[in-house]
Amino acid sequence: MNGDSNAPVRDVVIVGTGVAGLSAAVYAARADLEPLVLEGPEPGGQLTLTTDVENFLGFPEGVGGMELIQRGKEQASRFGAEFVHGTVADATLDDRPFELHLSNGETRRTRALIVATGASARWVGAEGEADLMGYGVSTCATCDGAFHRGDDVLVIGGGDSAMEEALFLTKFADSVTVVHRRDELRASEVMAKRARGHDGVSFRWNSELLEIHGSKDEGVTGVTLISHPDGYPRQKLEASPTGDGPADRAAKTRETGGIEREFLDVGGIFYGVGHVPNTDFLEGTAVELADTGHIETQAGMTTETTLDGVFAAGDVMDPDYRQAITSAGTGSMAALDAEDWLEQPAASGSIAASEAIADD
Ligand code: NAP
Repeated sequence: MNGDSNAPVRDVVIVGTGVAGLSAAVYAARADLEPLVLEGPEPGGQLTLTTDVENFLGFPEGVGGMELIQRGKEQASRFGAEFVHGTVADATLDDRPFELHLSNGETRRTRALIVATGASARWVGAEGEADLMGYGVSTCATCDGAFHRGDDVLVIGGGDSAMEEALFLTKFADSVTVVHRRDELRASEVMAKRARGHDGVSFRWNSELLEIHGSKDEGVTGVTLISHPDGYPRQKLEASPTGDGPADRAAKTRETGGIEREFLDVGGIFYGVGHVPNTDFLEGTAVELADTGHIETQAGMTTETTLDGVFAAGDVMDPDYRQAITSAGTGSMAALDAEDWLEQPAASGSIAASEAIADD
């Protein structure tokens, strides 16, 4: 994409308005860096899809995810952060200032870049999911749960998200069944206990979603599950040289002894199977990505990436902790790291000049 050399150059552009981006915005704005904050396709990030946040320090009664985000945005705006809508389609990071090319055709230029693009809900890979996503298949119980009053619904996954979705759905659905691919939950003790102890939630262990039935007109009408008495059917299926696509799995299911298929009559399916980092626009740049797609940061306690002047915060760089409070922490670190970096001579020069400085 061609750059717009007339676009003004900012000191800092922050990409993302989840808790990490907002925390970076508060710190950068208070440091008089007048950050520009790009609000992408999922404004506010994952917290806006959650109900109560009970473990964010300072809120003994819990706080709504949406409220936390709205308050963070107000706080950053108060100190001078500027928010604009814009999704980064790709970035030119091989010279300074960096150029961000937005999907609406605009270009934004910046000396320092803070990437806080978070992660988006992972899909399971079941047959039929692409057609029925939004028509009975959902990645957000708080958004779509109310459409399933009186339905029997499934929640896929065994982590905190799945438990939270299941508990929330008990308000609307006739029955909520958690389908987990193993027989042990990944969820935290407190969430697992809450879900296991709730009368409205039942569990299907060692089971995977193979196929979703229905149509855009009717919505979801049922599913086919596969299960294996010894647990985690995919492990067995992945051993197949035929691959791991739904069709391959279906074929292998027929061949593999011990695996059972079962049709269930359900009206809604909620995915809670984790997230994938939003780093597509960094592919092919000097910002190194891990195999998982997460941004690699330098060793030690820093948000510096492998490219000078680019910093990363929140779930986009954190495959391990992924908490609202840790995202807020890395957001503030990214702003402080960017502020330090902007004071160095390399920040105003070209990439070649800063490489020469580094070699000295
Ligand atoms: P997660 O902890 O990574 O759990 C994902 C779950 O989905 C795992 O049980 C995993 O199974 C299963 N899974 C992954 N891919 C699958 C597939 N293709 N088919 C079927 N199952 C699949 O993700 P998360 O639950 O979204 O949580 C992410 C982080 O946010 C965690 O640190 C969590 O503590 C935090 N969080 C906290 C709260 C809260 O405290 N209220 C709420 C939500 C999230 P395996 O277990 O077999 O790997």
